[in-house]
Amino acid sequence: MDCPVCTLKVDEPEVLCPQCGWEFRIYLTKLSEAEEALYRKKLEIARQNWHAMKELQSKLQELESKIKNQKYDIKESLSKSELCNKRFRIVDNDVVEDNKTGLMWTRDIGRQFPYLSWREDAETWVSELSTGPYSDWRISTERELVSLIDTGRQRPALPCNHPFRNIKKYIYKDKCIISVYEHWQKYAHIDIWYGKIISRAGGWGGHVWPVRGRLQDT
Ligand SMILES: [Zn+2]
Repeated sequence: MDCPVCTLKVDEPEVLCPQCGWEFRIYLTKLSEAEEALYRKKLEIARQNWHAMKELQSKLQELESKIKNQKYDIKESLSKSELCNKRFRIVDNDVVEDNKTGLMWTRDIGRQFPYLSWREDAETWVSELSTGPYSDWRISTERELVSLIDTGRQRPALPCNHPFRNIKKYIYKDKCIISVYEHWQKYAHIDIWYGKIISRAGGWGGHVWPVRGRLQDT
């Protein structure tokens, strides 16, 4: 027979439903009207309780899995923020060391090269630059600049908690273009606002972001 409360199939000799605890009663005599009404009431209450419990159980399970997922998210974002907190080291207030690549960058991007057309001009300016305790600044390569870009972020597309300053000064037409020079007059323009390479081998100049050190393979 089926349990009238939880619908579990129960063998005849059972006295209690092993699932919901309903007490099976076999009445040998016909119940009085009052007794039958009482029985129906009891059954109704037991069913209501059973359904309420089942609902609670499934809600609890849902909550448990939500908490589990949230725990995982929190763990992940914690380790992410830990990573970004550890990525950059500020050297002497004006210089930032990227622990991921070993490169050092000027912290203030607003002190970039004024807009100029040729690599020699950029090279001269960078070689004369003295920022922090260093005077061996140079023009970055494309690979070096791209190593700073976090494509998962925008405005600017730089890693979380980056300590760079004055990026907005260089926003023009919703772009912040930094130029890199690999060879004579062959360079890439990279928009660090949206993290995109705008053009390669362009014939127009731009701003440079001074770097020092050597890119370690990451
Ligand atoms: Zn039952």
